[in-house]
Amino acid sequence: MTTKTTTATGARTDVNLATILFVAFAGATILFAVGFANAAVMHDAAHDTRHSISFPCH
Ligand SMILES: [Zn+2]
Repeated sequence: MTTKTTTATGARTDVNLATILFVAFAGATILFAVGFANAAVMHDAAHDTRHSISFPCH
């Protein structure tokens, strides 16, 4: 007899370990890239993104 565990929302809980490791690695990469990036570069990137969606800023 097998039992399948689901949450109240019906989401699957049997996620592949490789998927978990890949997402953890991608998240850590983004965290360290942003943490060590130049502040002016980060500001310019955010500013360009804001202009690309036609958000008025200046
Ligand atoms: Zn602007």
